[in-house]
Amino acid sequence: MAARDAAGRNHRGDRALAALRGWLDTAAVADAGDAGADDDRIDWLRALPFIGMHLACLAVFAVGVSATALWVALALYALRMFAITGFYHRYFSHRTFRASRPVQFAFALLGAASVQRGPLWWAAHHRHHHVHADTARDPHTPRKGFWRSHVGWFLTRGGFRTDTSRIGDLLKFPELRWLDRWDTAVPVALAAALYVAGEALARWAPSLGANGPQLLVWGFFVSTVALFHATVTINSLAHRWGRRRFQTRDDSRNNLWLALLTFGEGWHNNHHHFPGSARQGFRWWEIDITWYGLRALQALRIVHDLKPVPAAVLARARGGR
Ligand SMILES: [Zn+2]
Ligand SMILES: [Zn+2]
Repeated sequence: MAARDAAGRNHRGDRALAALRGWLDTAAVADAGDAGADDDRIDWLRALPFIGMHLACLAVFAVGVSATALWVALALYALRMFAITGFYHRYFSHRTFRASRPVQFAFALLGAASVQRGPLWWAAHHRHHHVHADTARDPHTPRKGFWRSHVGWFLTRGGFRTDTSRIGDLLKFPELRWLDRWDTAVPVALAAALYVAGEALARWAPSLGANGPQLLVWGFFVSTVALFHATVTINSLAHRWGRRRFQTRDDSRNNLWLALLTFGEGWHNNHHHFPGSARQGFRWWEIDITWYGLRALQALRIVHDLKPVPAAVLARARGGR
């Protein structure tokens, strides 16, 4: 009995150590993970940096604000939202257009700066969602409760893991595997760059009223937390609020407000009905900023072969609401 207790303590100790190492190196946890065991439990230790990021937003009261800090926060929200929707989602998860390897890597880097883990993790979880949407096997269906679908699932042991069987097409790129393994590297580099840029502005353009701590808090913490919660409304609210144009097997909805917030992802019922298109707003008035951005990148020959919505699907969309 005593031996079993000691073994249990050791096991817990190993898990704690692995969780701490997992803050930096996701492979450390993948090695230690006994898949399946309490997958639905929130891994509080490993979630601490995520919680810390939220608390760090309170530092806005200490660092103050300037127009420069707000513009930087807004620009980083927009740029990274586009990287998430255009690339983590429509490119890596659904392969709805083509891009060269350098372009793919550049946008994977930008996506990784969003602190929503690596492109492989993101694509694996999202592909799983499409296969099992709103069933017991969907980790972020709102049928399991709002908070679980919005943020709880992201912090569970199963939520941290990457099911590599779903992403065979992406595993062949070592640079993407590197981004996934060291998924805090790019965020830390961004935070450091913002701090240095803020200090440089304080020194050479003091009239702007910005400094290192201010750009770090607004440009990194506030912008990233807003970006995260906007992104995950598509898991939580876009499966609850809005209209259902297509009778899909899941609860997905079309919602203009969420589409504006997430650059087009709010047309989620359209997307579940036909996930193979780079475009998610099916009617001209269904504002889809990511689609306009991808069209612009195609005009500049940076991406190509954007997959359209098939005429038959468009006709059905016109016939509906
Ligand atoms: Zn969905
Ligand atoms: Zn999708």
